[in-house]
Amino acid sequence: MDKSSAVYGPVTSWRVGRSLGIDLLCINSICSFNCTYCQLGFIQLRTLRRGLFVSTEKVLDDLKKSDWQSADIITFSGSGEPTLALNLGEVIQGVRALTDKPILVLTNGSLLDQPEVERDLQGADRVYVKLDAATERTFQLVNRPVKGLTLKKIVDSTAEFRRRHSGYLGIQCMFLRNNLKEFEGLIPLLNRIRPDEVQINSPTRPYPQSWILSSRGSHDGVDYPAKPLKPLSQKEGDLIAQTLREATGLKIVWRARTRVKK
Ligand code: SF4
Repeated sequence: MDKSSAVYGPVTSWRVGRSLGIDLLCINSICSFNCTYCQLGFIQLRTLRRGLFVSTEKVLDDLKKSDWQSADIITFSGSGEPTLALNLGEVIQGVRALTDKPILVLTNGSLLDQPEVERDLQGADRVYVKLDAATERTFQLVNRPVKGLTLKKIVDSTAEFRRRHSGYLGIQCMFLRNNLKEFEGLIPLLNRIRPDEVQINSPTRPYPQSWILSSRGSHDGVDYPAKPLKPLSQKEGDLIAQTLREATGLKIVWRARTRVKK
């Protein structure tokens, strides 16, 4: 496949099966966060402003050339935060017209308070929102958002989105050494949002020293300089999953990783 393609995979995901990735940002790494564990490395363009990065025509052409028929799901993710792409809604509609596959959008939730973003996401079957921190301090430490973004704003807009959006909502929680101890602080936040599912995640890929396009969606070993990250142990993940399940009654999904790919 063309290395500059806006479509990559399918890659196998333990959560959703064979996932074909759509990348609306593939000219750079572009995000409103700069997470310490991001598989893209240090984010090159850190912004909350939406823009047009890859044309809808190119994305849909790349989709037609891809092996989309063998995918279980089409996932908007890639080189950063997909809701920053102004053509997100248009591409979702285009994918819907070309394929019969369910559509998932992975987001950090930072633009969910914008009506146009909410409207774009109405076209998706599933939306998974990242929630790694229970306190503002940890949010700043782990997710390193652009100036002015707060955890409160993201939780408020995710809860509001939940109330209005009829599709499936998942919450993805990544656990590292520096947010592990405060996992119980997530309970009131999850009880407020009441998603369909909560995923307990642990880093599976090392943190690259710089952005390269092939780091998006890669589930194989990496051949570029990168810093390893320590995954959750089986015992740590089991404890988090059981505690959150008992305290919220929500569906909690977790699967241990034995090592971080190198
Ligand atoms: S929100 Fe996602 S793309 Fe953005 S920095 Fe964090 S992990 Fe990377």
